[in-house]
Amino acid sequence: MDKILSKIPPFEPGSVWLVGAGPGDAGLLTLYAYEALRQADVLVYDALVGQDILELTGPGTILEYAGKRGGKPSPKQNDITERLIALAREGKRVIRLKGGDPYIFGRGGEEALTLAAHNIPFRVIPGISSGVGGLAYAGIPLTHRETNSAVTFLTGHDASGEVPDVNWEYIAKGSPVIVVYMGVRHIRSITERLIRHGRSQDESVAIVFRATTKDQKIVVSTLANAAQDVEKSNLKPPALIVIGEVVKLRPDLDWFDRYLASEIED
Ligand code: SAH
Repeated sequence: MDKILSKIPPFEPGSVWLVGAGPGDAGLLTLYAYEALRQADVLVYDALVGQDILELTGPGTILEYAGKRGGKPSPKQNDITERLIALAREGKRVIRLKGGDPYIFGRGGEEALTLAAHNIPFRVIPGISSGVGGLAYAGIPLTHRETNSAVTFLTGHDASGEVPDVNWEYIAKGSPVIVVYMGVRHIRSITERLIRHGRSQDESVAIVFRATTKDQKIVVSTLANAAQDVEKSNLKPPALIVIGEVVKLRPDLDWFDRYLASEIED
């Protein structure tokens, strides 16, 4: 391990590393992310990043929160990127830490483009996206030879907060497995659209809350009942909605839930 860590490129003062923190479980950080956390002068982080990951920073790292707090609106995207630029220009080693992977529904692309436009040196450290790692912990393989050769990642709302204006018919007909990020608020209209475009009302759906953490909870339902079942569960996002036959493999593959249950018994 030391051999690998010694080969990690130096974190130069005045640069920004856009780092994926993974879905929650600190063990899912990459070695690059771990090393960067220990070296950073300033860490600008999002709401989805857990405390145990933040605690991996070195003693001198300053932590700056860039998400929503206490009902206050979140800082504007521009303000966050401006802040990254200002810190880099002060000669700091800056980490912009994001949940999951920075380039999957994380606005990492926008931030990187602005850094590039301002000639700030940057590096992107990919993370395990919740739609990949979270599903593994939920006991749901994203692809499975007998059920699907394709998968679609979808966001449940666009920049204006509405259900995105995608071609729902193509998605319903073309993608046997659909993973929806940020979709709980609009779960009723999402499931209705898929049914309207030909998906079976009885198709399996799993809603995976707080995947990979000790609070992971999963609601298993059908397209017709998912919205109602989520409401009844009283569980709160972050959550992923998984639609497709792969959900049916869960009873045999829910290793993490079994592990959590055994922890509670001990
Ligand atoms: N870049 C992130 C996604 C950011 S969008 C990634 O790659 O995972 C935020 C959405 O991600 C949440 O609304 C939720 O749908 C999903 N998400 C992130 N972490 C999650 C977790 N631990 N459990 C369930 N969903 C999660």
